Amino acid sequence: MLGSGKIGVTTDNIFPVIKKFLYSDQEIFLREIVSNAVDASQKLKTIVASGQSQANTEHLRVSISIDKEAKTLTISDQGIGMTAEEIDKYINQIAFSGAEEFLEKYQNDTHAIIGHFGLGFYSAFMVAKQVDIITLSYQDGAQAVKWSCNGSPEFSLEACDKKERGTDIVLHIDEESEEYLQEEKIAALLQKYCKFLPVPIVFGKKKEWKDGKEVSTDEDNQINDIQPAWTRKPSDLQEEDYNKFYKDLYPFSDDPLFHIHLNVDYPFTLTGILYFPKVKSSIDLQKNKIQLYCNQVFVTDSIEGIVPPFLTLLHGVIDSPDIPLNVSRSYLQSDANVKKISNHITKKVADSLLKLYNDDRKAFEEKWDDLKIFIEYGVLTEEKFWDRAEKFILIKNSEGKFFNLEEYHNLVNSSQTDKDGNLVYLYATDKDSQYTYIETAKNKGYDVLLMDGELDVPFIQQVEAKSEKTRFVRVDSDVIENLIPKADKASVSLSEDEQKALKDLFSKQLPEMDKMRFDVQIEALGEDSLPIVLTQNEFMRRMQEMAKLQPGMSFYGEMPVSFAMVLNADHRLVKELVGVQSEESEDKVKQLIDLSLLSNGLLKGEALNKFIRRSYDLF
Ligand code: ADP
Repeated sequence: MLGSGKIGVTTDNIFPVIKKFLYSDQEIFLREIVSNAVDASQKLKTIVASGQSQANTEHLRVSISIDKEAKTLTISDQGIGMTAEEIDKYINQIAFSGAEEFLEKYQNDTHAIIGHFGLGFYSAFMVAKQVDIITLSYQDGAQAVKWSCNGSPEFSLEACDKKERGTDIVLHIDEESEEYLQEEKIAALLQKYCKFLPVPIVFGKKKEWKDGKEVSTDEDNQINDIQPAWTRKPSDLQEEDYNKFYKDLYPFSDDPLFHIHLNVDYPFTLTGILYFPKVKSSIDLQKNKIQLYCNQVFVTDSIEGIVPPFLTLLHGVIDSPDIPLNVSRSYLQSDANVKKISNHITKKVADSLLKLYNDDRKAFEEKWDDLKIFIEYGVLTEEKFWDRAEKFILIKNSEGKFFNLEEYHNLVNSSQTDKDGNLVYLYATDKDSQYTYIETAKNKGYDVLLMDGELDVPFIQQVEAKSEKTRFVRVDSDVIENLIPKADKASVSLSEDEQKALKDLFSKQLPEMDKMRFDVQIEALGEDSLPIVLTQNEFMRRMQEMAKLQPGMSFYGEMPVSFAMVLNADHRLVKELVGVQSEESEDKVKQLIDLSLLSNGLLKGEALNKFIRRSYDLF
């Protein structure tokens, strides 16, 4: 016996604390232990590279094995190992972080050291009632030692006869945690945390199907890719490599739209690949998330607080040892490094989009419908992103042509400026149901934008706020003459009494519809314009649409939808109805009202049936 003693922690109750509170996720114990094994391997490589040892480091690997009878899970490496003194220092005196000391010593070396997770090794006690360390140091003439601890602060340390350099960590799994003795469970955890570690990780033998049965082969089952795409040079990678890596991350997804390879050395270290996904449904967006790694060890896929919200919709990998882990989210957001990282990523994303836009506008336009949701979300939530994205944001007109904001301004500036000098952008949200209005506007020589995206309404508000004397008006929000008023309104040639009688005539026949209001108005719109048009005030409609996106605005959401029913006093059909009151004229009024409803897709059910019958009677 080399010794026994108490572990250098301040309280006897540290283990229950570790078990319960330290890690919300018990399963990360495996990540911690495997990371240590990878570290020990990398350290040995560093020592050999610096000429301090001649050890053979060619086939270093970490292997994981389960012994169901002994109820143990063992993680073995062929790394530097530990002497009795080192165990005492690094394991017993919890306060010493061996990794940190090592980092200081070799900080200019290129081999990465994992070990930023805090109480790594002791997390084993979350699932084990006893942990043994059986280890032989790489140092010449070292004595192999076995350390053992049963979860109380007492430990034993004795000489043993391990022959090969390296460390076995033997976890005697406790009764409550026996799931960690199941192959499938361990395989799944290794897939999750260890898939891209830089040293081969081996778990059992590869299996194959033979005569309808799954049998083991002689080949080691290496579960990781030691050089994942993000750690390689962009110049060494082809488009296929990026797409293949994407499939490794999200097996059942379509190819992404494009990728951004991140690589920063200063003032922080960050690598990674971000992908703009092809969005099929919002479920995909929630399911496939950006994965955060620290020196190739998976940490989490909840990256809120590390990148701005709109970028959490992207897919891919971010790897940075400079993101403080094991701290609260609110702390994360105020951390200076994290802020720098977040800003850098935002800038990089904007630069990449601009480059794609400049290099290949056609390809950019083809991708626009898929990119749009990310970009609009970005400009709505990140002021800095707007400043950059302004140059490449596209808008599409009802004929499917794309324009950037400046191009569109120039296109409509002369024809769509009203008498007060305001530039009016006309838009439609549905090409089919607003067809008549779109055609009317086009016949007048105006251009109509198609704004049918989920975030288009707030986006429109943003563009208005950023531009001078510019407003967006939906094509059906007023009669064409009033959409872009060019001159003072033509006056209605009917007397006040005549107008009142006409309004009453129509008001009496208005349909009773749930949550809808109609208000009859009379205007002089010219003989050739339609006799009756339904319009919906831009402001109110927009407020109601915004209410759907923002819970705080439910007041607008509950108000009835109100339409103006505009009668054209210049039209023959309307003129004929002035001053007459008969059954026939009432039918005409009904017919006109129904036609206006019909052209807005509002005539349904019984009302539609009645309209059809009445129309047959006209023959
Ligand atoms: P950290 O890795 O954050 O320093 P740990 O508690 O995980 O903290 O480990 C403490 C120290 O124990 C490590 O820094 C390392 O010096 C040593 N150690 C742990 N596992 C091994 C191993 N498999 N081989 C060699 N040394 C190890």
